[in-house]
Amino acid sequence: MPDRLASCSCGQLAARVTGEPVRISVCHCLACQKRTGSTYGMQARFPVEQVDITGQASEFARVGDEGHTARFRFCPQCGATVYYTFDDMPEFIAIPVGAFADPAFPPPMVSVYEMRKHAWVGLPADIEHWD
Ligand SMILES: [Zn+2]
Ligand SMILES: [Zn+2]
Repeated sequence: MPDRLASCSCGQLAARVTGEPVRISVCHCLACQKRTGSTYGMQARFPVEQVDITGQASEFARVGDEGHTARFRFCPQCGATVYYTFDDMPEFIAIPVGAFADPAFPPPMVSVYEMRKHAWVGLPADIEHWD
């Protein structure tokens, strides 16, 4: 089982994960665009027991369209988000895939909020697609 390290831009906040994620998704929603500064967010979901967090984190909680609260944890020094949790799924931790800085990270399994997708964005056809 591979070990992977996600960290913020300055390296102070880090998440070491073991094993493979249970889900890898991209989200095109406007909140993810705002949060990332990119045109979509991409995250990998791991069981909490496979994730080891080190460093100081600040938190931003956001209530999604379906009423679930997501808590984004970011570095107070550099601002980069390194992990997030969902109040209704305490058994999982999501890690933004960019925090791994690993171009060999596995591709997404599912793409959500495609109604907000930038028209030029191309994704594999053989994954789940949701509006
Ligand atoms: Zn940092
Ligand atoms: Zn989103």
